[in-house]
Amino acid sequence: MIPARYGASRFPGKLMQDLGGKPVIVRTYEAAQETKLFDDVFVVTDSDIIFKEIEMHGGKAIMSKKEHDCGSDRIAEAVENMNVDIVVNVQGDEPFTSKEGLEQVLSVFNGADADKIDLASLMTEIHDWKEISDPNCVKVIVDKDNFAQYFSRSPIPYPRDKNAAVQYYKHKGIYAFRKQALMDFYRLPMRSLEAAEKIECIRYLEYGKNIKMAISNTQGIEIDTPEDLMRANKVLKEEKRADVNNKYRNFPMVPKVVFGEGSFDQLSSILAPQRKDKAPFIFLVDDVFKNDSELVNKINLRFNDKLIFVSADEEPKTSQVDQMVKEIKTEFTYRPSGIIGIGGGTILDLAKAVSIMLSNKGSAADYQGWDLVRNKAVYHVGIPTISGTGAEVSRTTVLTGPVKKLGINSDYTPFDQVILDPDLTIGVPKNQWFYTGMDCFIHCVESLNGTFLNAFSESYGEKAYDLCYEIFVKGDLSEEESRGKLMMASWHGGMSIAYSQVGVAHAMSYGLSYVLGTKHGIGNCIVFDHLEEFYPKDVALFKEMVRKHNVDIPKGLCANLTEDQINTMIDIALSLVPLWENALGDDWENIMTREKLRSLYLKM
Ligand code: NAD
Ligand code: ZN
Repeated sequence: MIPARYGASRFPGKLMQDLGGKPVIVRTYEAAQETKLFDDVFVVTDSDIIFKEIEMHGGKAIMSKKEHDCGSDRIAEAVENMNVDIVVNVQGDEPFTSKEGLEQVLSVFNGADADKIDLASLMTEIHDWKEISDPNCVKVIVDKDNFAQYFSRSPIPYPRDKNAAVQYYKHKGIYAFRKQALMDFYRLPMRSLEAAEKIECIRYLEYGKNIKMAISNTQGIEIDTPEDLMRANKVLKEEKRADVNNKYRNFPMVPKVVFGEGSFDQLSSILAPQRKDKAPFIFLVDDVFKNDSELVNKINLRFNDKLIFVSADEEPKTSQVDQMVKEIKTEFTYRPSGIIGIGGGTILDLAKAVSIMLSNKGSAADYQGWDLVRNKAVYHVGIPTISGTGAEVSRTTVLTGPVKKLGINSDYTPFDQVILDPDLTIGVPKNQWFYTGMDCFIHCVESLNGTFLNAFSESYGEKAYDLCYEIFVKGDLSEEESRGKLMMASWHGGMSIAYSQVGVAHAMSYGLSYVLGTKHGIGNCIVFDHLEEFYPKDVALFKEMVRKHNVDIPKGLCANLTEDQINTMIDIALSLVPLWENALGDDWENIMTREKLRSLYLKM
């Protein structure tokens, strides 16, 4: 429940102010919904304007009486006749309400003392004396089980002994009530402590209710003043920019990598120090190696280590990751010492995703996007057996989920260790070598021609591009040289997009793949073949390479698609906003219209 009064005293109409193109209250509503923590989300308001605005954005709103003293009364009125267990009060003026905070406040109802709890709320550590002594900042003290003892605008405790180590906590106005506690509150008259401090939740203490406090240290911005709003707009812009054009990205790189023919033999000695007592290593190996006893012997399984052969016939899915994690958790008591992926982009991405999901709850689908992963992944090692995707070095693991095809892009995604042994790529069939190699070439083209390009991406992109040229165009290298160089091209291509983005071919290829299951490498080739308008010089070069290596690029894929399929393809492609912004700049929506996309797809 999001109580939303129109006439806030300090900043009238603040909930209808514009925050990045939408009213504050709509932002708050959407943020609450996006957490997926609630069965239902409602705005409870005294204002027709707010009511209509929420309904217009497809949300749910309830009209309440005007004359409530506080937000809790407003939501109590709204839930009085609803059949609910727990009601969470989300402040209407906190558009950046974090999922983490709400999760914390709800999680107390799963604890051993849940029966004792009437309501739960949040607190944040504070350290600055200015804040501690500020009467606008409500402090809270708790007992050893984090039950609230008192709330006050005074600094509590008073630091008579300046050297005593106390942690001060600021109260955050998010509550999760058992319905009964909320209804009681509504009916009980205010008493003197509450009246003196003007702090709502003191009433619960005055009537002997138990308030369990959860700690959340994520900082939101409350919009109390026009200055707050300006600050919030700035944060939103920066967040958007951070997601999208990556100006100052602080991204992790693979911390350890070994390169060279035969380096795969180092695997056992690299893993040994990472082994935790009784916790197995799990090897996810492309099933193309099922009968390759030499490779399997080198893996050298110990104790309860497990080797799982995985097919790379289909693009990795969130459901597949969830299933693998479930099986591993069922079979082993201990969280694995590590996950080792041995294969192409498909297996490497699965290994990254499984290692993340072993230490994060829920489904892999919950983490598709930017920076949604909360806990560090288990130790994971990537060993590519085909080169081009850059999956061995990237910060993402691309998965097809129930509603989108999108990577889990996080600081915990990159491998802890990579082994680059060009000999492992000896058996790659020619067509596949070309398709996956072209993924690298296309990464370079899209990065080098993108609007996000900076010297960092450019240096990696140019090197990878030159290596691709040597390998696929000049073609005067020995096979051994060519394997080593393609492996490094893949690495550099991946690094190039770390500080940039891919572009048109990838966005469209994701659409193909989502609807038709077309694999990434070949899908990119199918699309790129028709992009002369966007990358003229490089599409010409691509066509030359196709001829030179006598490779088939499938045609006519989209000839018999239904209208629905085409539309889904277009939706998936258009949803990849950062790719379009990189490829075509801020004005991309006027260039890449649905009609334009349709006509391009129909050529393929
Ligand atoms: P792949 O892993 O799908 O493998 C392609 C084929 O080559 C499979 O049939 C596989 O069995 C076979 N193969 C692999 N190594 C072999 C070997 N040594 N000998 C014989 N056959 C071998 O192909 P890929 O192009 O490397 O990966 C594509 C996947 O990578 C896609 O799912 C794509 O989404 C993903 N990808 C991820 C990133 C990232 O940054 N995470 C980047 C680009 C692509
Ligand atoms: Zn790619």
